[in-house]
Amino acid sequence: MLRGCMMDDYPLTLTHLLERAGRLFPKNQIASRGPDGSIFRYDYGAYYKRTHQLANALTGLGLQPGDRVGTLCWNHHRHLEMYFAIPCAGFVLHTLNLRLHTNDLTYIANHAEDKVIFVDRSLLPLLEQFKDQLKSLQKVIVVPDDGPTPDGYTDYEDFIAGQPEEFTYPEIDERAAAAMCYTSGTTGNPKGVLYSHRSTTLHTMSACMTDTLGISERDTVLPVVPMFHANAWGLPFAAVMTGAEMVFPGPNLQPESLLDLMSAEKVSVAAGVPTIWIGILALLDQDASRWDLSTMRTMVIGGSAAPPSMIDGFRQRHGLTVTHAWGMTETNPLGSLARVKRYMDGWSDEQKLAVQGTQGHPVPFVDIRHVADDGTLLDWDGETMGELEVRGPWVAASYYNNDEQADRFTPDGWFKTGDIVTINSDGYIAITDRSKDVIKSGGEWISTVALENALMAHPAVAEAAVFAGRHPKWDERPIAAIVFKPGQQATEDDLAKHLEGNFAKWWLPDAYLFVNEIPKTSVGKFQKLKLREEHGDHLVKQEA
Ligand code: ADP
Repeated sequence: MLRGCMMDDYPLTLTHLLERAGRLFPKNQIASRGPDGSIFRYDYGAYYKRTHQLANALTGLGLQPGDRVGTLCWNHHRHLEMYFAIPCAGFVLHTLNLRLHTNDLTYIANHAEDKVIFVDRSLLPLLEQFKDQLKSLQKVIVVPDDGPTPDGYTDYEDFIAGQPEEFTYPEIDERAAAAMCYTSGTTGNPKGVLYSHRSTTLHTMSACMTDTLGISERDTVLPVVPMFHANAWGLPFAAVMTGAEMVFPGPNLQPESLLDLMSAEKVSVAAGVPTIWIGILALLDQDASRWDLSTMRTMVIGGSAAPPSMIDGFRQRHGLTVTHAWGMTETNPLGSLARVKRYMDGWSDEQKLAVQGTQGHPVPFVDIRHVADDGTLLDWDGETMGELEVRGPWVAASYYNNDEQADRFTPDGWFKTGDIVTINSDGYIAITDRSKDVIKSGGEWISTVALENALMAHPAVAEAAVFAGRHPKWDERPIAAIVFKPGQQATEDDLAKHLEGNFAKWWLPDAYLFVNEIPKTSVGKFQKLKLREEHGDHLVKQEA
């Protein structure tokens, strides 16, 4: 091999991103809303100094390089300080999901061996429920978000006060761990994904490409997606690297309060799961004149399928653009993104919408393939369903200290996503289901995602989740749980008619359940497993 004569050993670490924000964009603003609705403002110059102070304070605790430091926090500016101070001081940022059950949180913090935990004062009662069971925990630092820190705890501001505003970074190998997240894990224990400096840095570069999220210095970014969910999809890293201004929502994630924030802070990019956007669209439909969203460049929607009717509603009725993205905790998380290609410019709106409703094609450096149950590689014909496998520099190569699901990593170096997809000749991925949600009726797959998208296009339907009901003859048959929009109604017949013609007859749900609410996971996705647990016998009972 003739080796290139380049500085290939220059490490890809997060310190470079932090340095850029502090040195190149010190005047750019960060706005952070507290639990009481008040907004704290500062600039990257001040952010940089405080992050250094935090890094100095952490270093003073005598932790070992690679030690895990937990955060149990909402999205706010101090959390952003932790996002960089912890990894840049050589430790590992471990974001804890505050919506999990305390049993899971106990398991996760023990498994990660968190030595220090930062916690919002408003979440301290939650931590106090399991803190004493944490075997490695040495110190709790309280962020005084909604009032003064109680006696007996170290206050965040006291912790960093008086620390030098300059920080001497330790030498960090780009392959060293920087951050970790646990996936919720519907079977078995939660599994840790341990990101390296290199993987997060490369992911950040990718997220900023024009053809991906295109985050730039000109953007004002609002991560609605929690900072404890897959690193808020990498947006904090992307914003710090580019100097994009940031807006943090704090704990209030109600649609109205988010719209207020987007409008007042002139947000250009906001990101969250579909359930958040369904609520936002409903409010805009009632009275869009209340908010000025003219600065909004795009709304990034992912985490579960964005219904095309919602994408269309934003565009048609409000002139707003949706970027539909797919990813997983295991992929840092950005894996693919639905963009209409230039040769499609002449297509009808309907055709373009169909493209935007897919999970798109992979971002650079993420390879994809899909395989049949027996491991056969499938053709990109847009029809044949198989499990999506991915690989790339920001895809997990194993779970942290856990062999439970080692079989999700193939011997030839791919990660099995658990998503059942088709891929078309252009490389567009369409998720038909997560393997755990799949309905097999008489041995044939029915796509719950396709049915849900169609049901949510009905004018009376706010939310629809389709799940498998046990069936004496067909094994499983689809049942649709429906939430109506306020003041709206439809009958089973109406909904069946609405679906007819677009699907094979045997795909149509056998039953409709009209419910007040669809159970959601800790990150706001439809929890179909719970529906299955509660109503899985509905058809069997009907037949009896
Ligand atoms: P959790 O298991 O808690 O949902 P993740 O957030 O890592 O953890 O979820 C990743 C999964 O979310 C993917 O495997 C896929 O099933 C689903 N997902 C993510 N984005 C999309 C999308 N745009 N469309 C459909 N499903 C999606």
